[in-house]
Amino acid sequence: MEATHQSDPACLFCKIVAGEVPGEVVHVTERTVAFRDINGQAPTHVLVVPRAHYENAAALAAGDPEAAAELLTSAAAVATAEGHDDYRLVFNTGAGAGQTVFHTHLHVLAGRALTWPPG
Ligand code: 5GP
Repeated sequence: MEATHQSDPACLFCKIVAGEVPGEVVHVTERTVAFRDINGQAPTHVLVVPRAHYENAAALAAGDPEAAAELLTSAAAVATAEGHDDYRLVFNTGAGAGQTVFHTHLHVLAGRALTWPPG
């Protein structure tokens, strides 16, 4: 499939955005939805996704720059709402970098000491 379909019926995160698969949604905007990661790696571990289906961050930035920017402002809003000044934002791009769901998602991690470099 192409990277820029508005919705992919086979995509897990499209289904969460559509409410067809349950998700613990913590923040919504016109172009984004933020929900808790099912396998949280920190006290706050939220995934911020565009409502439209783009397979990775670069495809989103090329196809809908406004949504890409909104992902960042949504992530900051989530961190603030959960009381964190310090947080980490991660886009995994490609299987070799750890991407397992091919619908753009920005990880928001906070609430514990985060080491560098990541594994
Ligand atoms: P990636 O490895 O692609 O960067 O991140 C995918 C994330 O999606 C993982 O952290 C994984 O725990 C999370 N995830 C996978 N399936 C589900 C699900 O059904 N619901 C939620 N909320 N998160 C999921």
